[in-house]
Amino acid sequence: MDFDIVIVGAGLVGASFAMALRGAGLKLALVEAQAPAAAADNWDSRIYAISPGSAAFLQSLGVWKRLDRERVCAVHEMHIHGDAADAQLRFSAYEAGVAELASIVESRGVQALLWQGLEHQHNLELICPERCVALELRDDAAELTLAGGRTLHARLVVAADGMHSWARQAAGIAAEVISYGQMGVVANFACARPHHDTAFQWFREDGVLAYLPLPGQRMSMVWSTPDAHAGELLSLPGDALCARVAKAGKDALGELELLSAATQFPLARLRAARLAAPRIALIGDAGHVLHPLAGQGVNLGFGDARDLARVLLQRELFRDLGEIRLLRRYERARAEDILALAWVTDGLQRLFAAPGGAAAKLRNAGLNLTNALPVLKNLLVRRALG
Ligand SMILES: Cc1cc2nc3c(=O)[nH]c(=O)nc-3n(C[C@H](O)[C@H](O)[C@H](O)COP(=O)(O)OP(=O)(O)OC[C@H]3O[C@@H](n4cnc5c(N)ncnc54)[C@H](O)[C@@H]3O)c2cc1C
Repeated sequence: MDFDIVIVGAGLVGASFAMALRGAGLKLALVEAQAPAAAADNWDSRIYAISPGSAAFLQSLGVWKRLDRERVCAVHEMHIHGDAADAQLRFSAYEAGVAELASIVESRGVQALLWQGLEHQHNLELICPERCVALELRDDAAELTLAGGRTLHARLVVAADGMHSWARQAAGIAAEVISYGQMGVVANFACARPHHDTAFQWFREDGVLAYLPLPGQRMSMVWSTPDAHAGELLSLPGDALCARVAKAGKDALGELELLSAATQFPLARLRAARLAAPRIALIGDAGHVLHPLAGQGVNLGFGDARDLARVLLQRELFRDLGEIRLLRRYERARAEDILALAWVTDGLQRLFAAPGGAAAKLRNAGLNLTNALPVLKNLLVRRALG
């Protein structure tokens, strides 16, 4: 057998999974189509709110402590506004008794550190740039053929190749995909007023607008909005976009100045029918994609990477890593988190997208009610902390 495990895809989730197995005594290969972008001085427009649970996982990999602290911002407060003037929900790290609710990091920064670790990982062959073109899952092994003609044999294939996962499709695992008919428009801004480490979110008629605090007087915007409105926002000149975003955010941070050109991502929900089948397991967006309104997609993926690595390390009497009874332990370990987050994000998205006065009353009353119930608020915070 060439390898114990072949991982397809070295995004944040596949790369962190490979690193979590660095001392495992297993032989690994990681196939990635594109090398990560080189470090740059400008602010990455792909920003993540990393939960304390994910930060602890990255800490265990030696990545968290190597992040440039000048480019990480702790979130101490979260202010969520409904579409009625008085509807709001506030979370505070102080009230919840935690150091921070989340940390805002640049995707590129975490990816670069993971990549550096992989380049020095002794039990790993990094095959990049390369694409997989054929997969056969047999009783005794998985056989993967690469575009360059090489064939890899492994006990287990881990699909970490994102939402449009080639490996998931090649294994014949069905996935339900629902388009929200929305784009996530992202851009970074300098702001006239300090954010005091606060993340803001507004549920609006034209979607969900979020301001995530960046170090200094800067913030990163994610506006999840119908396709046509996203197109209109992207066509605006810089000054007009700044004015539009500041007004939509109730001037919470004063005047804005664009730091990076706005760009957009299509938003869809995806759920694979299974996270495991004989000789294959799915992690990250290959297995589930959420609406970004809860900012939890990559956190869920890190949870997959951590739990699959743990199951494989604690495999006890299982000698074959691709055995389905072993992989089902991983699937069971992830079921609750994935279902709960999918339910909450999808439910919120539908509730706030629903037209009509009754839905508006319900959602705004729900925000105020949750705000008034410290026990419920604490429960929500604990789950979001991961
Ligand atoms: C607008 C927006 C905002 C978001 N904000 C947040 C946030 O604040 N917090 C959060 O937690 N999540 C957020 N998310 C979600 C987050 O981006 C994803 O959940 C996360 O990036 C998934 O990581 P991944 O490693 O599973 O997949 P990907 O990042 O898609 O990586 C897949 C990798 O596989 C490689 N690949 C693909 N096909 C092949 C192949 N055939 N062979 C070899 N390699 C292949 C690709 O090159 C890529 O490197 C957001 C998403 C959007 C759209």
